[in-house]
Amino acid sequence: MRHLIFTLFIFFNLQSFAAFEDHFENKSLRIDYYHSGNDTSEIYTIDELIEEPYWGGSKVNLIDKFDYGKYKFEVYDLKSGKLVYSRGYSSLFAEWQTTREAGTTWKSFQESIVFPFPKKNVKVEFYSRDKKNKWGKRFEYIVDPDDIFIKKETHKDYDNFKIHFSGDPATHLDIVIIPDGYTKKQMKKFRKDSERFKDILLGSEPFSENTSKINIWCVKAYSRESGPDEPGKNIWKNTLVNTNFYTFGSERYLTTKTYKQVRNIAAYAPYDQIYILVNTEKYGGGGIYNFYSVCSSDNAKSDFVFIHEFGHAFAGLGDEYYTSDVAVEDFYPLDVEPWEPNLTTLVEFETKWKDKLSTTTPVPTPVNDNFKNTIGVYEGGGYKAKGVFRPFIDCTMKSAKYNNFCPVCKSAIQEMIEFYSE
Ligand SMILES: [Zn+2]
Repeated sequence: MRHLIFTLFIFFNLQSFAAFEDHFENKSLRIDYYHSGNDTSEIYTIDELIEEPYWGGSKVNLIDKFDYGKYKFEVYDLKSGKLVYSRGYSSLFAEWQTTREAGTTWKSFQESIVFPFPKKNVKVEFYSRDKKNKWGKRFEYIVDPDDIFIKKETHKDYDNFKIHFSGDPATHLDIVIIPDGYTKKQMKKFRKDSERFKDILLGSEPFSENTSKINIWCVKAYSRESGPDEPGKNIWKNTLVNTNFYTFGSERYLTTKTYKQVRNIAAYAPYDQIYILVNTEKYGGGGIYNFYSVCSSDNAKSDFVFIHEFGHAFAGLGDEYYTSDVAVEDFYPLDVEPWEPNLTTLVEFETKWKDKLSTTTPVPTPVNDNFKNTIGVYEGGGYKAKGVFRPFIDCTMKSAKYNNFCPVCKSAIQEMIEFYSE
């Protein structure tokens, strides 16, 4: 029996590989587009298609199984109609739509999707969630891989270097670190900082048990000036990917709108996840699911921030805190189950960590010593003290404590590591 299971497993894997070779080449296609709109409307407009040299993703797990993110795209073989690739993601535009400003004006944001380069014509469908978190198709685009306008320029401006290497990018989680606000003279500092954050990431659970499934790459690309923009202090710097504090008016929220350039720099290495390391002592960061993580390099709390933001960007984890000011408003409507695996409104709790709950644990679970280190349903999370619930009293997604992910967040991260390393 064991032999049979083993044979079936091998067969299944060969089948999946065959699917990759049938449909894709071992490089990437990037579709850059603009996501424009206001608080209630959105449109997609294509910018350009770009061929990139590496495919850093899995060749087995081509179809997304998580259903996380505000958006997703699906790639269909045009002739057979077969779904050949899909991925969920979120973006800065999605967050902007929940700010007050989005009620008064329209804006455009750069976004892009990346998938293995197709061998035959494919149809790409773009979906976003409505207010009830249900998917709706918003746009579709046919890609002809022989289209003469797919950009094939080769860029050799920068080198990459590895700071942690375990093996073939197809069977490992690949993280690429991009420096922002590091000048040419500060490239040594960038290497040292990256090494330090590598130790921070690989030293925290559950990454510490998975170091052999992870590669970490860096792109040696420098900025004209040192440090990021601080619009609230009238500080403006000419940097590689143009990061700034004060995103949507929140001083500590460190992001960039120049997403095209982020993707251009990331393409110098095979990658699944982009991490932008920003050369500053100021406290801050940001993390958006399958979009990017951003963290400042030299703040006393940077070890916690680095991991916390990666929790958002890599595993789709939501914020479990509810006491700090944030720029977004009513991010989690109470009559809708959030898609984040570590938050619930109890609308569809069975899709979350209900199976991990002991039958003796009350719902909601009181915060006291009896329930210390117990998976429960604790009220407060997702920027709301009432109506949104978290799985544990404390967690790296709740408070500024390094190496403190709760069991529900840990298992979400573990599943994601395995998805990328199969
Ligand atoms: Zn957690």
